[in-house]
Amino acid sequence: MKVLEAKNLNKYFYNPKKFKVLENLDLAVEKGDFVSITGKSGSGKSTLLYLLSTMDTDFEGSININGSEMQGRSNSWLADFRNHHIGFVFQFHFLLPEFSVLKNVMLPGLKRAAFPPQELEQKAMDLLKLLDVQDQALKRATLLSGGQQQRVAIARALINDPLILMGDEPTGNLDSKNTGLVFDLFKKLSAEKHQTMLIVTHDEEFAKNTGKTIHISDGRID
Ligand code: ADP
Ligand code: MG
Repeated sequence: MKVLEAKNLNKYFYNPKKFKVLENLDLAVEKGDFVSITGKSGSGKSTLLYLLSTMDTDFEGSININGSEMQGRSNSWLADFRNHHIGFVFQFHFLLPEFSVLKNVMLPGLKRAAFPPQELEQKAMDLLKLLDVQDQALKRATLLSGGQQQRVAIARALINDPLILMGDEPTGNLDSKNTGLVFDLFKKLSAEKHQTMLIVTHDEEFAKNTGKTIHISDGRID
């Protein structure tokens, strides 16, 4: 079953003249696929992920996720859709500095209000444990190392059991041990919980071991 299908995507930026960043992209991802997106710096990987995650709505073409068209939707509709279906790990984590690690992970779940806070707290702790940062749970987010913050950001992206997890170089800050831990977790979630993984990476070893690789050069899929 297709969980995401993009057709004839075109994306322009203005810096300062109009230029085409993504050109006539078509892609389809099946439910439970573990997909990596690779390509040189500046090829358009982050731009593509921002479109597919519905955070950037300025594009031509069609993006269908879980049977719903994303083109033309209001920002509030998209925010709610993301909260229910998409987890996103940013390249530069963006944890909220004023909150604890635990609160950061719980926040998207509190917004959703699908579980009572106690259950949510347990779920957040379980995720922190899977990512081996459970002993940092009560610290303020900014006291953690870059790699620890990145793993917390992954836990946060998973708190609502997203249909699709998207990550923009989510292992970019991690050593090989923690990269392996995150890779194994993504693989397990895709295989056992049929969560779809769409991960931008420049780590060739990581990409080689995913089920499918989409390679971008100059805004086109090879
Ligand atoms: P990648 O993630 O593959 O390194 P990006 O998607 O970040 O590449 O960028 C693709 C191209 O678009 C690059 O030429 C980059 O300079 C340009 N670009 C990215 N973001 C913007 C923006 N907000 N405004 C103008 N140009 C941008
Ligand atoms: Mg990028």
